[in-house]
Amino acid sequence: MTAQVIDGKKIAAEIKTEVARGVARLKEERGLTPGLAVVLVGEDPGSQIYVRNKENACAEVGIKSFKYVLPADTTQERLMDLVDELNCREDVHGLLVQMPLPKHLDPTPVLLAIDPNMDVDGFHPVNLGRVVVGNAVLPSCTPAGCIELIKRSGAGMEGANAVVVGRSNTVGKPVAMLLLSENCTVTIAHSKTRDLPDICRRADILVAAVGVDRMIKGDWIKDGATVIDVGMNRTDEGLFGDVDFEAASKRARAITPVPGGVGPMTVAMLMRNTLTAAEMTLQG
Ligand code: NDP
Repeated sequence: MTAQVIDGKKIAAEIKTEVARGVARLKEERGLTPGLAVVLVGEDPGSQIYVRNKENACAEVGIKSFKYVLPADTTQERLMDLVDELNCREDVHGLLVQMPLPKHLDPTPVLLAIDPNMDVDGFHPVNLGRVVVGNAVLPSCTPAGCIELIKRSGAGMEGANAVVVGRSNTVGKPVAMLLLSENCTVTIAHSKTRDLPDICRRADILVAAVGVDRMIKGDWIKDGATVIDVGMNRTDEGLFGDVDFEAASKRARAITPVPGGVGPMTVAMLMRNTLTAAEMTLQG
């Protein structure tokens, strides 16, 4: 068997087209243009690229973007003041502070200060809690992107055995909860898990969110499985996922490549969350 390669770029483009339609409808019918504010502290080159990608995506779908760049030596107080100010702006519906912050700043109070209904990254504990109780209005973007990829690859989720390798608050745990909401039977594995290869071999759906270059081998994959590789591991040979793509492709039904799988979905889901946040303001 040679697996279907799940094209994250194409699916992300489809989602952005759907969001653009929703944005146009909101403008036309309710006179509301969704706005996304992105706060960047310092000059980290990686963060600058991420922020530019978000601005470009906003322009593509018709969302108004507001960028705030603060100097690297910004105080905690100044950053908190800006978050408070943006929380109250009528033209801003989604608000995110680009991570990581410079070392002297504490990200936790910043994250907690963001209005949960504007937290389009889905990192606020209120939004993580909503995911747990099955009301994922603003789910975190990468986990939500994984679910979209699984659905649009044609995999059945109800009753499927899903294994998530990784238990971070940003990827592993929320993706596991979203799979549970889709009626999968979910196992969460981590660095202390015993017999990981055997656990993976039981997975109809395998989500790898580990951060270890190609650690999941081909013979860990169940025949016909759907494999979602969140890992992004930069090596001297290039960028690789957590799954040995070549070997896994011989057994899987469908698999995401790295790059071009989960990566492009994150910004697309951010656009979707920003539209949702704008729509939520109309619900009073
Ligand atoms: P974290 O480092 O926060 O979490 C990694 C998880 O993997 C931990 O739960 C850890 O277990 C587990 N783990 C580590 N080593 C092993 C092992 N040998 N066997 C089993 N489990 C192991 O990473 P993130 O969740 O933030 O990210 C995971 C990967 O996804 C990274 O490569 C990251 O770059 C990528 N990523 C990609 C995104 C995208 O848009 N495509 C977005 C976000 C992340 P334990 O808890 O026991 O330590």
